Amino acid sequence: MFDKSSWIRLPRNVLVGHGVLDRTVDAIEELHLHGQPLIVTSPTPRAVAADRIAEDFAAEGVDPVIIEIEAASRDSVERVIERARTVDPGYLIGVGGGKPIDIAKLAAADLHRGFVSIPTAASHDGIVSGRASVPDGDVRHSVAADPPLAVIADTTILAEAPWELTTAGSADIISNYTAVADWRLAHRLKGAPFSQYAAALSEMTAEMLVDTADSVLPGLEESAWVVVKALVSSGVAMSIAGSSRPASGAEHLFSHRLDQIAPGAALHGHQVGVGSIMMAYLHGGDRGMWRNIRAALESIDAPTTAAELGIDPEDIIEALATAHDIRDRYTILGDGLERSAARELAQETGVI
Ligand code: ZN
Repeated sequence: MFDKSSWIRLPRNVLVGHGVLDRTVDAIEELHLHGQPLIVTSPTPRAVAADRIAEDFAAEGVDPVIIEIEAASRDSVERVIERARTVDPGYLIGVGGGKPIDIAKLAAADLHRGFVSIPTAASHDGIVSGRASVPDGDVRHSVAADPPLAVIADTTILAEAPWELTTAGSADIISNYTAVADWRLAHRLKGAPFSQYAAALSEMTAEMLVDTADSVLPGLEESAWVVVKALVSSGVAMSIAGSSRPASGAEHLFSHRLDQIAPGAALHGHQVGVGSIMMAYLHGGDRGMWRNIRAALESIDAPTTAAELGIDPEDIIEALATAHDIRDRYTILGDGLERSAARELAQETGVI
């Protein structure tokens, strides 16, 4: 008897490219959202994008409320929810790098309101997905929320963002290789639900980025275009899968663990990139994939060692040995690495 079913939740309007910020009001109007927008942003993205959007709304007779957040924390989410309770917005808009978008996403889920994502940096795939990662006390891993109703990614703005944010976004995409390898493994060993479409899309996205890595260069709008398109495609893979599996495996567990051990030391994408080198080594022994991943990261200027991440080698070993405890997700780490094996892994791959 056939009893399978799936529910794919995708963003409805995805605008990517030169000058699309100017079409924000149109793109949102087209969603038939009602009421006042609540814009969640932080100081720099406010200056480059949020104030412009607010002016465009004002010209249409809509008066958005703007709230600035400083830190990616549960407190910031609570502040947004609190503010929303007084203004009763029709929907939320996150404008910024990772932080304001994740916070707007979580607050919107809590408030049962729609949410629009306007990234000002192509730094990670959370700009399109329904996953959000905000530290809650000592805990930090991604939690499920709703995917954005619309994504508006203006390459003029993304190209102006600090270069390391773009290399972090690229590394997040490259890590799809090990995420999919882990997903396949979990499927074969533990019967985890697996989507061939989502896995293929995720791998193809990483492959296309690696193939064009040589032309991903600072300050070029084309580079921002290549990376943000890949982030969108990765987000779509997660929507199809109905989980973050296509883009999050052991390399993400490793990165979430590093966030606890050495908070704020390096960017998310850079940490998962280095994690991906090591997890690929575990998947493939000395042959193949891990060297390709390391070469791809090098070619886009992303870190490949603990020193380049600015993280103590002992912290890398600690994170490797304990990453499997982060959440109940089967990966190549299985029930955990012995500390001696973790050290050897980091040494063999040149990370420490
Ligand atoms: Zn990621």
